[in-house]
Amino acid sequence: MATKKDHVFAIIGGGIAGLTLAVALHHRGLRIKIFEQAGQMQEIGAGVAFTPNALQAMRVCHPAIYEAYERVRTRNLWPCKQKVWFDFYDTRNEDGDAAAKPAFTISNDVGQNGVLRAHFLDELIKLVPREAAHVGKRLASYEEGGPDGRLRLRFADGSEDEADVILACDGIKSRVRQLLFGAHHPCALPSYTHRYAYRALVPMEEAVDAIGKEKAQNAAMHMGKGGHVLTFPVNHGQTVNVVAFHATSEEWPDSSKLTAQSTREAALRDFSNFGPGITKLLKLTSPKLDIWAIFDLGENPPPTFAMDRVCLVGDAAHATSPHHGAGAGFCIEDAAVLAHLLASEEISDHRGHRVALAVYDAVRRERGSWLVQSSRRIGDTYEWMAEGIEDDLAKAEEEIKYRNGVIADVDVEAMCHQAREEFSKRWRA
Ligand code: FAD
Repeated sequence: MATKKDHVFAIIGGGIAGLTLAVALHHRGLRIKIFEQAGQMQEIGAGVAFTPNALQAMRVCHPAIYEAYERVRTRNLWPCKQKVWFDFYDTRNEDGDAAAKPAFTISNDVGQNGVLRAHFLDELIKLVPREAAHVGKRLASYEEGGPDGRLRLRFADGSEDEADVILACDGIKSRVRQLLFGAHHPCALPSYTHRYAYRALVPMEEAVDAIGKEKAQNAAMHMGKGGHVLTFPVNHGQTVNVVAFHATSEEWPDSSKLTAQSTREAALRDFSNFGPGITKLLKLTSPKLDIWAIFDLGENPPPTFAMDRVCLVGDAAHATSPHHGAGAGFCIEDAAVLAHLLASEEISDHRGHRVALAVYDAVRRERGSWLVQSSRRIGDTYEWMAEGIEDDLAKAEEEIKYRNGVIADVDVEAMCHQAREEFSKRWRA
């Protein structure tokens, strides 16, 4: 039987969930192997923003993660807007007046915090030993029966490896989720939320010309019927991240692909009623523009996040639409809780791993699944389609404040301690 120090934790996927978990486990003295299907650890050049709970979770995983984030993050550029999460604009009033005031503002303790994913992940990968990262390894299947009771992993390139525990950080289309529940289980595939998004990065100077200094240099959410456009500064203020969401009754043509090629012309048509500022902003994007289908696990959440010595982490467990801007933050919360559990002194064998993963499921599933549902509701709220709110902006503000509070007002460290206490109780039972 392998001893505790020989236990191998296989992390499938090197996105935000996989790498934060890898750092958290490695720095707690656990042996990790990361298997990433891509030829190198890489990410699309888009922005991602973090809410206060995410920053707490980074520190709990390991202070170096928070420091890495600090090196690459961009906050609102104006000193008076350091606590502003988003200024919300009513596009009915967007007549091109750069000085138009927001309809309302949502703030929190840390304001807006945008990073370019690629920059953040580049920093994270430096925090794990080079030999722990195996690229070009797409997990195809796993089975019991390895030596010392280990799980045997099989990769698409025909190679094999072994691990004591599998931590599936393999994203919204998780292969491990399909293997756990079966390819025909409703949760095996995510479903289309009937929204898609154009994403672009625009040079700051040009964005200022289009929408004015206040909106370009600070996070802004432009609400309208059936769509919303959000912008926030990234790349230390040199670039503006633009995401333009549009609701549709049409089905997504090919669910095996979450992106499709579209055009700037199509974006201009979709947002033609959003005022001259947004039109100018979209004109800055490239003529060929990808659209991202917004899928989630809202209709068919996995019945459990953990089974035996395999568990789902991040989007693999609770892929959400991005309207709360909290999906990645929840990945890091998952990593914090899992790392606390798996590093428990009491674990000496596979029974300990099973108990730890069962506690992870108990602690994380309700909150993770709530985010998925709440994000749908909040997307509708931004687009005046939420039942009982519609275009009543006072009600919209109240709804956003309440739901953002559920996300941000947590004590991640306390959540981890609670998980450890639950582990000890179950371990001794
Ligand atoms: P992923 O980032 O999808 O990583 C999964 C990794 O696993 C990938 O590297 C993939 O190549 C690899 N992989 C997959 N299958 C296999 C396999 N079989 N074998 C080996 N490797 C495999 N969240 C926020 O918190 N704030 C935001 O502002 C925000 N904005 C968003 C905007 C948009 C338009 C979208 C779509 C999402 C947004 N999110 C945001 C959500 C956030 O991006 C996700 O929650 C987060 O990136 C998920 O991370 P992950 O590591 O779980 O999955």
